[in-house]
Amino acid sequence: MSSWGHTLRRLTDAETAQLRARDAWWETSGLEPPAARYRDTACRIRGCVEPATHEGSYRYVTGRAGRVSWARRLLCDRHADRFRAKHHPEPGQPSGHAPAVAVRQVLDADAAGEGLG
Ligand SMILES: [Zn+2]
Repeated sequence: MSSWGHTLRRLTDAETAQLRARDAWWETSGLEPPAARYRDTACRIRGCVEPATHEGSYRYVTGRAGRVSWARRLLCDRHADRFRAKHHPEPGQPSGHAPAVAVRQVLDADAAGEGLG
């Protein structure tokens, strides 16, 4: 799987607060909270439960049709360092400014379960 167009940026305080608020919802819901690695504040690399501090994004070709998708991953400090060393990313833009089509592609990418390795 080849990927390109990597970006990496630190999450803003507002974004971190938003993730924490989503996790806090479980405490008031009366429902069983998800395992640590599925929490909104957790790093998205499989098996990692460190709190996410960065957002890494990249483009990749998906499927036989060769469609280009865009994906993003929330990363902890350690995985952000690894992402930086491996992909030499450009500084990223806050995803709030991404066009709607990019948001839809994020959902596609998540459904495909692509990892960063
Ligand atoms: Zn991590």
